[in-house]
Order: sequence, then C-alpha cells, then structure tokens
Amino acid sequence: MKTARGVGNLELREIDIPKPKRDEVLIEVAAAGICGTDIHIKHDQAFYTPPVVLGHEYSGKVAEVGEDVTSVAVGNRVVSPATAYCGKCHQCKTGHMNRCTAPDKRILGTSNANGAFAKYLVVPDYIVHQVPKGVSLEEAALAEPFACVVHSVIDKTPICPGDIVVVQGPGTMGLMATQIAKSMGAGKIIVTGVTADKWRLDIAKKIGADLTIDVQSESDPVSIVNNETDGQGADAVIEASGACVACTQALDFVKVAGHVTL
Ligand SMILES: [Zn+2]
Ligand SMILES: [Zn+2]
Repeated sequence: MKTARGVGNLELREIDIPKPKRDEVLIEVAAAGICGTDIHIKHDQAFYTPPVVLGHEYSGKVAEVGEDVTSVAVGNRVVSPATAYCGKCHQCKTGHMNRCTAPDKRILGTSNANGAFAKYLVVPDYIVHQVPKGVSLEEAALAEPFACVVHSVIDKTPICPGDIVVVQGPGTMGLMATQIAKSMGAGKIIVTGVTADKWRLDIAKKIGADLTIDVQSESDPVSIVNNETDGQGADAVIEASGACVACTQALDFVKVAGHVTL
C-alpha cells in the first residue's frame, strides 16, 4: 500500500476484506503485474490518492457479488480495466472512457479505489470482463496492458501490410506492440533497447522482431534504420520505452509523412 505522498511510503498492511456494494464485485486476485505506473507512484512521479493499494493489471475469481449484479457470478474468472469511468463527461461520451475527467472517478490502484496488490479487491460490475476458456489467469493478468497496446497500435497506428515498424523499448508494452504489429502484417519490425535490455531484445527476436538494435552500444542507430528502409525511414515508430530521449530518436527513425505513436 502507498500510505502517503512522497518517495517510497510503501508498506505491507493488514486491511479488512472489502464488502461489495449493490453494483460491485468482490474479486479474489489470482495474478497481478507491476506496471511502470506503480513504479512512478512509488517514486511520487504520478497521480495517486494515498492511502491506496497499488496494482491495476490483474486477474482473479469472483468471490462475492452485490445484490444488483447479474453480469457475473461467484467463481467466474475475470479481469477489468483500471478506470471506473463515469459515462457522463465529455471524454466518456466521445468514446474515451479511459480519459474520463470526472473529478471523483475511481482508478484501481491509483485513485479512490484500492488495487490488486492484495488478496481481494472490489470493482464495479460494469467494468468486469470474463476470461475466455483456454486463457490462464496468469495470462489474463496481461489483459489491461494488452488492451492499452491494442488501442495504441491497432486503433491509433496506421500500419499496412509490408510496413517497416520500429518499436522502441522491449518492455512488456514494447514486446506486445511487436506481436500486434506483426499480426497486422508489418513486413519488417525493428526493436530498439538499451544494453541492459539484451535479454528482452532476445525475446523480441523470438516473437516477431526481424532486427534488434542496442541504441547504447551502436554509434549510429539512425543509420541502421535508414539502411533497413532504403534510406526512407520507418513507416511507423511506436515509442514504448517512456524515455524522453527515445521520443526525439523516434523523429529521426520515422520517414517523412510517417507515423509516430507515443
Ligand atoms: Zn499499467
Ligand atoms: Zn467520464
């Protein structure tokens, strides 16, 4: 639990099992991932409302439902997005529920709602999704970040079959972006990372990257991309590292009239 504002202030605390309200679901957490946002909150570099149990990338089983809940039942395997959106503000009504601007909105593990780094959490039933058969709960814990990458790559990045795509950063998001770009028909995928990312760059090669570049040890990564693109630059660059320097480099990697997704 993040107990107070400031750097650190993370504690293990005993808390009561939350009781679901009429329209809420009590979920017993099966698996949860650590997001970059959790790290930013640890370092006091992100929005949050302490005290709050962190963790918003998770899966679990329904342990109890409020009396008005009909969409799921006890025992169902479920996931949810992080934002319990209001459905009424301008952003919600224009299809950007993840950008809900209601001042009292709840974001699991961040603001006004405890998250999944606990045995149980409660969430409103309208954001709960059942996990399909054949998907393990460990895999399902990636549903929230995977949805973010599907949105940024499939919805927001115009990748055509044969396109050359650079993915910057081989973390969870970058590796998923690599797989999604591949599934969209990208002709060549180049994944960049720093020297400490070598093991992740090796994973990238196994799951769809045609080439990886260590941007720290290579003296001129831009020329490598240019050589791979007949001097044109990449059709699309997906910035998944979160590093400012990578944003600048994205503009060097991309072709004229190409597309950069941040
Ligand atoms: Zn996250
Ligand atoms: Zn809203």
